[in-house]
Amino acid sequence: MRIDLHTHSDVSDGTDTPTALVHKAVQVGLDVISLTDHDTFAGIAEAQEAGRRTGLKVVSGLEMSTKFEGKSVHLLGYGCDVRNRDLTDELARIRAGRVERLPRMIDNLRAAGIEITIDEVYDHAGAAAAVGRPHVADVLVQKGVVANRDEAFRTWLGEGMPGYAERYACPLERAIDLVHAAKGVAVIAHPWSRESRAVLTAPVLERLVKDYQLDGIEVDHPDHDEATRELLFEMGARLGLVRTGSSDYHGHGKENNDLACNTTRPSAYNELVGRIRRRGGWI
Ligand code: AMP
Ligand code: ZN
Ligand code: FE
Ligand code: FE
Repeated sequence: MRIDLHTHSDVSDGTDTPTALVHKAVQVGLDVISLTDHDTFAGIAEAQEAGRRTGLKVVSGLEMSTKFEGKSVHLLGYGCDVRNRDLTDELARIRAGRVERLPRMIDNLRAAGIEITIDEVYDHAGAAAAVGRPHVADVLVQKGVVANRDEAFRTWLGEGMPGYAERYACPLERAIDLVHAAKGVAVIAHPWSRESRAVLTAPVLERLVKDYQLDGIEVDHPDHDEATRELLFEMGARLGLVRTGSSDYHGHGKENNDLACNTTRPSAYNELVGRIRRRGGWI
């Protein structure tokens, strides 16, 4: 059984529709995916419908923008009831923060000598429920300022770069509580990628397990090198965490994230499913 639990569609900053993503997953031989768009459930119904037609299991998923000690941390929610009001209200607040940030990013870019407009960003965002820096990056690519999204982040849009602007994100502990209140299971995405490694130390993860019943961590992820994966795998075992693996596929929005380039072990998936069932979530 092949399982990829972290993927994006064009409902956020991926480039495939939810339906196209499901078809691609079938093509590459996956049996299970989770669609985990940033701060929205808008693609879940479509992906699950396509999954029913093609025999692919699509787990309800989400990647929530959170903050911990001033650093950006991404929290995956699995099996959530997508109608839960407390959670969807918070997601709406985060998405409003994305919209509110845009003009400030554009002002910052203008001050650095680069002219783009909000309309150009929305042309690239299309019908996306969650507009973000990758869509701004697409405008910079189209204008020939940079060659690809990655260069856009490295030179203009990443933290500390001229086009960067802060935005609202949900405190991590509250995000875990909200996922649980929606009957879902909470897994920290790429915990030791560049931004969050310094703050998500072993004692911090231990406290999140004890005080907030954090369920899991992503171990096999393109942002983690081999040594990092080994350390996280051992620490996760010690803390009783579900240890997942996934691609963080974004279509052609991210070059090193081919669908199924990392997968979740069937035993870890079964643990995750058990936790979702115990919470009464969608599985
Ligand atoms: P935002 O959530 O709008 O602030 O944008 C951050 C998102 O952009 C991340 O969640 C990634 O999905 C994506 N991203 C970050 N760095 C890169 C990169 N170097 N190349 C392409 N996409 C990136
Ligand atoms: Zn993304
Ligand atoms: Fe992420
Ligand atoms: Fe992601």
